[in-house]
Amino acid sequence: MRILVTGGAGFVGSHLVRRLVGEGHTVLALDSLLTGSWENIDDLSDHPHVTRLHQDVVHPYELGALDRIYNLACPASPPRYQAHRVHTTLTSVLGTLHALTAGASCGARVLQASTSEVYGDPEVHPQREDYRGAVSSTGPRACYDEGKRCAETLCADFHRERGLDVRIVRIFNTYGPAMDPDDGRVVSNFVRQALSGKALTIYGDGTQTRSLCYVDDLIDGLIGAMERAQTPEPINLGNPAELTVRDIAEQILALTGGGRVVHLPLPADDPKRRRPDIARAHALFGFSPRVPLAEGLPRTIDYFRRRLAREASRGVAE
Ligand code: NAD
Ligand code: UDP
Repeated sequence: MRILVTGGAGFVGSHLVRRLVGEGHTVLALDSLLTGSWENIDDLSDHPHVTRLHQDVVHPYELGALDRIYNLACPASPPRYQAHRVHTTLTSVLGTLHALTAGASCGARVLQASTSEVYGDPEVHPQREDYRGAVSSTGPRACYDEGKRCAETLCADFHRERGLDVRIVRIFNTYGPAMDPDDGRVVSNFVRQALSGKALTIYGDGTQTRSLCYVDDLIDGLIGAMERAQTPEPINLGNPAELTVRDIAEQILALTGGGRVVHLPLPADDPKRRRPDIARAHALFGFSPRVPLAEGLPRTIDYFRRRLAREASRGVAE
């Protein structure tokens, strides 16, 4: 198949591009490089079936016949999307409109990377797809949350009005190699801090929870949803193993050889609890995350060690 991955130079997108190429597809990786880097798919730079396209999805594009479109373009880390608030909303709304328009023009199936953030700071736990969420429309996270909610609406209405084959996946916190060490998310911050002998910055008292999914499991979920789900209804993807932020810090400290934590103020609107109910994904295509934190964290730490060493040696060379 000829497949477009928007956000193909990002953390999740780079893993997806590599998996799709490995399965024998021709892949167009499109990215503005706002938070991603072609270095994430450096190993594919001479691959005959991979094309890189430098493009911002807020502008329309024309790429000819496509079979599948994975629309992942959007910064995902709170500090990163809050550094570009208006552009983040436009990326979700116009970027999704352009992906759907491209899909409608050639009959391609379109998968939208939505997020657990559509549930906001949830009053229902764990979160099932029929929960409508508790989201601020004007708070500091709104540019991301409301942009992604509107993107879901566009997908649902392209399906209703034009019969477009769409998939909506709500991704819960995902981690793994190729995360940007500077993007400010919990795993990247803690690993980077632990490896450089700094205190781990726990926001608030650390009792807030997240459920961390290893990236390989998420990629299984994205491809499973695209190829086997056969529904335009939203589908949660994530690992339901729930941890407090303090637990995450302790596990990273144990794996990296000690260190300490400091407590910093909790950001506004930080969701208190988050855990996906993945029964729908399981029923539709057998989704079942396989990589526990005890395996995924060491792989991620190894990646960060290599990357930070590479950056340090570049710094010395410069
Ligand atoms: P990321 O920031 O690493 O990757 C996003 C990619 O999109 C980057 O390469 C960035 O340069 C690109 N991009 C951003 N704005 C763009 C624009 N206007 N035009 C073209 N490219 C643009 O983030 P990620 O973790 O890989 O997230 C990928 C997708 O999955 C995002 O849509 C995100 O909302 C969604 N998601 C991720 C998580 C997670 O935990 N990783 C959780 C929920 C949802
Ligand atoms: N967090 C933290 N220290 C950090 C980064 C994040 O305590 O250095 C907390 C953050 O307040 C949130 C959780 O970890 O409760 C997950 O944050 P992240 O930014 O990774 O993603 P979110 O799920 O909030 O979008």
